[in-house]
Amino acid sequence: MSLIEVQNLKKSFGDNEVLKNITFNVEKNDVIAIIGPSGSGKSTMLRSLIHLEEINGGTIKIADEAFVEDGVYKRPEIIKQATSKMGMVFQQFNLFPHLTVKDNLELAPKMAGKKTTISAMTTDLLQKVGLLNKEKAYPKSLSGGQQQRVAIARALMMNPEILLFDEPTSALDPELTGEVLKVMKDLAEEHMTMIVVTHEMGFARGVANKVVFMDDGEIVEAGTPDELFGNPQHERTKAFLAKNL
Ligand code: ADP
Ligand code: MG
Repeated sequence: MSLIEVQNLKKSFGDNEVLKNITFNVEKNDVIAIIGPSGSGKSTMLRSLIHLEEINGGTIKIADEAFVEDGVYKRPEIIKQATSKMGMVFQQFNLFPHLTVKDNLELAPKMAGKKTTISAMTTDLLQKVGLLNKEKAYPKSLSGGQQQRVAIARALMMNPEILLFDEPTSALDPELTGEVLKVMKDLAEEHMTMIVVTHEMGFARGVANKVVFMDDGEIVEAGTPDELFGNPQHERTKAFLAKNL
């Protein structure tokens, strides 16, 4: 059983067909890097998985349960049960500016009615991302790299089976990308299942076990890092890599 199965996903904004016929699977422990030019539909694809966008056709199954089948969405409880298996980290961190780091981490689990282990998890996860001393800090007092590490810890608070990252280092100064990529690499080594939209070709090549190249709303090519970077089959992939490697 695949953890995620996407079949013939289609999405348009008005007349603009942004995702044309996307089909792929994610297995447990996969680290999938999605690469491709700006505007190719990478964010829309990721957002569709977690129901931040509604698709117009196709099926998305999470842990063998479809929450949208042939473009028809299931009941809200089923959608919620499926999407709650995933956590997402955004390019712009999206922390709550009026809450401390600790409260940013604890808001969602508290709203979900979890009580007993929240505080211990906060400590564990802040330690994991190297920010144990920042519990009481507000986001604006932190660097971008620190904020993104808080955002990763926050996503982990809900015990997701899958983490989705949408260009997590693209808003960071170059000297701060390493500390965020390090946390992501640690998660991969602990066998977290991850889908990472990224321009960091080093991460895609060195950490991912599969790389997907998207262009113009389609998956043009997918394979192991060695296949995709070492022996790309399609002209569009070759052209993109020539510009971005
Ligand atoms: P990528 O993440 O690969 O840069 P996106 O998924 O953000 O691509 O965008 C794909 C296309 O969808 C672009 O043409 C973009 O303008 C369009 N698009 C994305 N979000 C919206 C939206 N909310 N409304 C209208 N068009 C959108
Ligand atoms: Mg994007």
